[in-house]
Amino acid sequence: MQAAILAVGSELLGTDRLDTNSLRITESLHRFGVPVRRKAVVGDDIDELATEITHALARCSLVIVTGGIGPTSDDLTREAVAQALGRKLERQQWIVEDIRAKFARFGREMPDVNRKQADVIEGAEVLPNRRGTAPGQRVDAPAGSIFLLPGVPHELEGLVTGALEPWLADARGRSAVGMRWLKVACVPESSLEQLIAPFFEEFGSEGLSILSRPGEILLQLSDGASSEQGLAEREERLGSILGDAIYGRRREDSLERTVGELLRVSGTTVVTAESCTGGLIAERLTRVPGSSDYFLGAAVTYSNRLKTALLGIDEALLEAHGAVSREVVTAMARGARGRLGGDWAIAVSGVAGPEGGSEDKPVGTVDLAVASPSDEVRYLRARFPGGRGRIREQASQWALDMLRRWLAGAERPDASHLAPRNLVVRQAAR
Ligand code: AMP
Ligand code: MG
Repeated sequence: MQAAILAVGSELLGTDRLDTNSLRITESLHRFGVPVRRKAVVGDDIDELATEITHALARCSLVIVTGGIGPTSDDLTREAVAQALGRKLERQQWIVEDIRAKFARFGREMPDVNRKQADVIEGAEVLPNRRGTAPGQRVDAPAGSIFLLPGVPHELEGLVTGALEPWLADARGRSAVGMRWLKVACVPESSLEQLIAPFFEEFGSEGLSILSRPGEILLQLSDGASSEQGLAEREERLGSILGDAIYGRRREDSLERTVGELLRVSGTTVVTAESCTGGLIAERLTRVPGSSDYFLGAAVTYSNRLKTALLGIDEALLEAHGAVSREVVTAMARGARGRLGGDWAIAVSGVAGPEGGSEDKPVGTVDLAVASPSDEVRYLRARFPGGRGRIREQASQWALDMLRRWLAGAERPDASHLAPRNLVVRQAAR
């Protein structure tokens, strides 16, 4: 079995929307050992689409189409697949009623345009979509099977796990390849490559992919041809090499989520005092549902005047050392604890650029401090590469990781249930 993926939507041919759905679909196909032979992005044009489908089906026995099953006139995937296969579309009343009921739950009446989402290709199986109005469809034709899946990524996810993967398991007569994820914060990619060189010597590079972005690396292990036990051995080896640089072992983990879990089990709260990150750390912490249990708030003190007014920083200190200094960022962390009343405080002050750099504090210089419940402070000066956006992103990453390491090393017998699968809890280096 070989697969083709078609991403449908004229917006995907423009400059500000990227087809990411095909990556998600590819991941599932790989987990069932199905190679992707072709991928295409097609605009909302019925003839283009029908041609592409015919073409794909001539080469691949599995064709997955994402997008174009919405209610508007430019959503033409159903029509195009029907045209390519020479089949009719049949409006199914039970789907119309189902969609009507979904609208009713939000106190809305179903617009007439949504009726077309109940059009089913002759002989197709309807794939329920709990996250949206339009169901997906699977059509089995002599040349192969075609899946019609939604374009909205969140809805696609539901259908990939709810319909595509079970079908693949059945068709392939096997379960998904095992996967392990290791999320690593604040290790440069080149350093990571060096660190894990012994791993490559021992196990080779097959089945390990390394995906990096500033301040964060995702290591993805798959068992491929080897066994579940082989996978566990390789995970263990990487774990012992990377130690507490690993902040999470679930795919959906993020640093803010791990920090949140650690704060929750320790029963402590955090506040932030942010200058060059402008509230980014607070924004990240509050992405996590339930963060109100441990995140109290932030002082975004961009100006010196507000550093003094909101955090109580002595004007003389600012005058003597400048806003980007160990002295000031330390005072910001302590000031945030005192004034905002958190157990922990994160403080950041730096030069995000592109202007404002100097010889001893060039653009990218960021001072980071974390104050603990006993008012002890850990301080770090970093020099981040890249432009303004990357510098701010990395600053937020390093700041959160400082707190994570400190929390993970604190006395926290309650956290034992998080280790070792979810978190590596170890004394942080000072
Ligand atoms: P559609 O149902 O095709 O109109 O798509 C609905 C939304 O999902 C649009 O806002 C698209 O930007 C998004 N979307 C559609 N296809 C993709 C894709 N292949 N990758 C990522 N997003 C997509
Ligand atoms: Mg569309």
